[in-house]
Amino acid sequence: MSRIAYVNGRYLPHRQAVVHIEDRGYQFADGVYEVIAVERGRLVDEEPHLERLARSLGELRIASPMPEDALKAVMREVLRRNRVRDGTIYLQLTRGVAPRDHPFPPASETAVVMTAKRSRPQSPRVAEDGVRVITVPDNRWGRCDIKSVSLLPNVLAKQRAREAGAYEAWFVDASGHVTEGSSTNAWIVTAEGKLVTRPASHAILNGITRQRAIKLARASGLALEERPFTVPEAKAAREAFLTSTTSHVLAITEIDGTVIGNGKAGSFATELRRSYLDFSRGAGPEA
Ligand code: PLP
Repeated sequence: MSRIAYVNGRYLPHRQAVVHIEDRGYQFADGVYEVIAVERGRLVDEEPHLERLARSLGELRIASPMPEDALKAVMREVLRRNRVRDGTIYLQLTRGVAPRDHPFPPASETAVVMTAKRSRPQSPRVAEDGVRVITVPDNRWGRCDIKSVSLLPNVLAKQRAREAGAYEAWFVDASGHVTEGSSTNAWIVTAEGKLVTRPASHAILNGITRQRAIKLARASGLALEERPFTVPEAKAAREAFLTSTTSHVLAITEIDGTVIGNGKAGSFATELRRSYLDFSRGAGPEA
């Protein structure tokens, strides 16, 4: 079965799904995106994802291409045509097509592309064993809160992680504090059992999974502090983990070669992962 993409009003097989060479997303990375998980046919945290999309568009002054109801209808149609019940949907919106020139074009229509793909559940082994991260200097721009398609530093960081045999790269700011991963948010658990994650600011993408994990942690009475932490603090932490739409909650068992805790997924990460999966599969309190 050929995968079907939505491209500016049309549903097309991937091999015919093309965008204009003067699309500003292609030429300037002048666009934004979202990735939303689909579990058992349900879009996980759809509303917060669409709110963040609207915010990203607003920050870049890119016009909304259609009312939210229409966007939701297209998303469902893309999932239906691709027969995706468990997987992800990708939305990319750019400032549209115009002769190449840096300032905003006087008139352009927001271009919209959507694709969907199935995914298999992550192996429980990965969750139990945890993953390795490396640290890299944060060399990104000052508006990491906008979910922009301009991801070159993230791509390079992830590639460095892969080449080092690691799952993720954590960006570290000029003062030695971890900002976030190349495509995930960063967390630690202190010796006293307090969850720590960097507060939302222009320095990080405020992950929807991060926000959900904060709510779930608070609901189960866990102590939580939103503050920056350093690499040495993370290496000495009781646990470390990461969150994202596709990784859910995933334990980290090594940072730059230093083993965290006993080298296995810790109880906090395991418990939070379980409540996140329950939530996303529809068994959670807000399903
Ligand atoms: N931080 C960055 C830089 C990301 O690219 C992502 C996801 O793509 C995240 C964090 C996690 O965000 P979410 O939980 O919304 O997937």
